[in-house]
Amino acid sequence: MTPATTPAPVQPPRGPDPLRELQVRRLRELIVLLLVCFGLFALVNLPVANTPVLLTTGAAMAVLGIALQLLRRGRFEASLLTVLWTLTVACTAVIWMRSGLRDLMVLTYPAIILLAAMTVSPRPLMALLATMLVSLGLLFWGELAGWYQPEVQELGYGSYLNRALLLVLVAVIARTIANDLGDAIRRAEAERERAKDSASRLAFLVQHDALTGLPNRLLVQDRFAQAVARARRDGTPLALLVVDLDDFRRVNDSLGHGVGDAVLQRMAERLRVLAADTDTVGRLGADEFVVVSTELPDVDALAGFAQGLLDGLAEPFERDGLSITCRSSIGIAQFPRDGDAFEALLNRAEAAMARAKAEGRNAYRFADPDVDIDVGEHLRLVSELRAAIERGELELHYQPIVRLASGEVGGVEALVRWRHPERGLVPPAAFVPLAERSGLIHALGAWALEEAARQVRRWEARGLPPLTVSVNVSPLQLAQGALDAVVARVLAATALPPRQLLLELTESSLVGDAVPLRDCIARLQAMGVGLSIDDFGTGYSNLGYLQRFDVQALKIDQRFVRGLADGPQGEAIVRAIAHLAEGLGIRSVAEGIEQEDEVQRLAALGCEAGQGRWWSEPLPGPAFVHWYQERERGRVAPRRAAPA
Ligand code: C2E
Ligand code: MG
Ligand code: MG
Repeated sequence: MTPATTPAPVQPPRGPDPLRELQVRRLRELIVLLLVCFGLFALVNLPVANTPVLLTTGAAMAVLGIALQLLRRGRFEASLLTVLWTLTVACTAVIWMRSGLRDLMVLTYPAIILLAAMTVSPRPLMALLATMLVSLGLLFWGELAGWYQPEVQELGYGSYLNRALLLVLVAVIARTIANDLGDAIRRAEAERERAKDSASRLAFLVQHDALTGLPNRLLVQDRFAQAVARARRDGTPLALLVVDLDDFRRVNDSLGHGVGDAVLQRMAERLRVLAADTDTVGRLGADEFVVVSTELPDVDALAGFAQGLLDGLAEPFERDGLSITCRSSIGIAQFPRDGDAFEALLNRAEAAMARAKAEGRNAYRFADPDVDIDVGEHLRLVSELRAAIERGELELHYQPIVRLASGEVGGVEALVRWRHPERGLVPPAAFVPLAERSGLIHALGAWALEEAARQVRRWEARGLPPLTVSVNVSPLQLAQGALDAVVARVLAATALPPRQLLLELTESSLVGDAVPLRDCIARLQAMGVGLSIDDFGTGYSNLGYLQRFDVQALKIDQRFVRGLADGPQGEAIVRAIAHLAEGLGIRSVAEGIEQEDEVQRLAALGCEAGQGRWWSEPLPGPAFVHWYQERERGRVAPRRAAPA
C-alpha cells in the first residue's frame, strides 16, 4: 500500500495519475487478500462451529464485497475506510465472542493501526484507535466486574492455523507497504535530481546569451562588480572594451539571418580565444560584445590588445562556400579614470566606439580623447622609429674619455642620436624609453654595438690608436639573456678585440640574481669584454653586485660632479666613489665635466678619468677623428682652456 498524504478531496479525473492507480490496485489486492483470509478463517473455524463467529466472518466478507464495488466506482477513500472499519469491527466482534483480552485476534489491532496510519488522515486513525481502546477497556472492566465471561479456548490445530494465518497476512501487508515506500522514495529522489538539473539549466539561461553561449549583460555586470572589488583591494587593472561589428546589418540583409547568426557565433568564439582566460567576454545586444579586461596594466597594453582583437576578428572565414570578412570597431573605458560604475564605463566605452565608427571604422578609440592622442602619437613614433632603424637614420656620436692625470684619450663613449627628417637631431632621452617599451631596443642595441665596433676599426684604419669604446646597454637587453650572442656576432663581424669593448650597464640591470643574467654576464666576461657601471650611485644602493661581477669601471654620475660646487659634502661623495673604485682595483670615470676646476678637483679626489664638454661634446665619427688629430697635434686645447 502506498502511503497516502492527507487524503485529498475526490478530484475530477484529470488523466491517469500513476500514484492513484497504484493506490487503487493495492487496495483491490488488499480486499481480495482479506476475503481469502476471512474465507480461510471461516474454514479453519468451521470444525469449532462457533456460529456467531462464522456469521461475523460472513458479514465482514459481504461488507468487503461492498468496498470492492466502491473501489470499482472510483470511490477510493470510502472503500479504504470501509475496509479499515470492517476489519476493526469484525475483529472486535470476534474478540468479544471468543476469549476477550486473551484472544489472538487482539493481534490484528496493531496491524490495522499500522495500515491506517500509512493510508488515512489522523482523524479516522484516531477514531479507529479510540474504538479499539474502548473495546479493550470494556473487556478488562467486564472481566474484573464479572459481567463478561470470556470463552476458554481449547488448544487445537485451529488455534495454530489462526495464528499462522494472521502472521502471514501481517507480513504480506507490511512487505507491500515497505516496497511501495521504497519506490516512492526513489521516485522522489529522481524528481529532485530533475528539478535540480532544470534549476541549473534555468540559471544558465538567465545569465547567458542563447545564441552564442556568452555571458549576458546580467552576468557581465556581476563579474565587473567582482573585478572592481579586486581592483580596489589589490590595485589590479580593469578596463571595459565594447566591440561592435561594422556593417553587420548588411550581412543580415544580404545573406540572411542564418548566416548572420553564424557570424555572431564565430565572432563570439574568436573573442573568447583572443581574450585572456581571466577576462569576461559577453554579448550585450545584437552585434555588440563586451570584454572586461583585468590584466592589461596600461594604455599601451590595452591598445595592443584592441588591435589584436580588430585583426583577429577581421580574419575571413568560410560559410556555405562564401568567404565572409567582418570588421569591427572598439571603444575602451578604463577604471577608475573614466568612471567606477558599470553603466558609466559602458556609456563611455560605447561613445568611444561610436567615435571609432564615425572616424572610419575598423579602429579602436579610448574613452578619454587625450589617451587616444597619446596612444596615436606613441604608435606613430614607434613605427617611425622602426623605419628609422631600418633606413639608417640613427647615428652614434662619440664623446672622448680622458685620463685626468695625463690628458691622454683612452676611449670614447658611443651615444645614439636620431637624425629625424623634420625634427632634426633627436636626443636618446626622447626615444630610448620608447624603444624599450615597444621592444625595438633589441634591434637598436644590436645596431649600436655593431656600429660602435666598426667605427673604432675605421678610426684605426685612419691611423688612430686602438681606443676602447663604451656602449650603453639597456637593462632589457641584458634581461633577455642573449646579449652575449649579439656581442660575439659583432666581435666576429668587425674583428674588434674584446678588450676594446666596454658595456655600460646600469646598477638596476645587475641587481637581479636570476640564473640567465649571471650566465650571460659570465659568458661576456669569458669573451674578454669589459663592464662599467653607468650613473653609479644613483640607482640601487646594495653593492653586492660588485662582488658578484668583475666590473672594470664605475662612472660617477654628472650630478655628483655638479655637487662638487656644494662644498665638503659633494666632495665626500666623489671621494668615496673614487676610493671604492681604487679599493676594487678598477677605474673611476666622472661624467659631465664642463669646467677646468672640476677636472682639477676630481683629479685631487682620486678620480682617474672623465668625459664632458670641457673636452668635447659627443661628436659624429669623422668629426671625432678631426678632434683627436687636432688635439694630438697640440693645436686644439680643451674648448674653454685658459687663453693661450
Ligand atoms: P649616459 O650614458 O649617462 O650618457 C651621458 C650623457 O651625458 C649623454 O647624454 C651625454 O651627451 C651627456 N653629456 C656629455 N657631456 C656632458 C656635459 O658636459 N654636461 C652635461 N650636462 N651632459 C653631458 P645623451 O647623449 O643625451 O644620452 C643620455 C642617455 O641616453 C645616456 O646617458 C644613456 O643612458 C642613454 N643612451 C645613449 N645612447 C644609448 C644607446 O646606444 N643605448 C642605450 N640603451 N642607451 C643610450
Ligand atoms: Mg653611458
Ligand atoms: Mg651616465
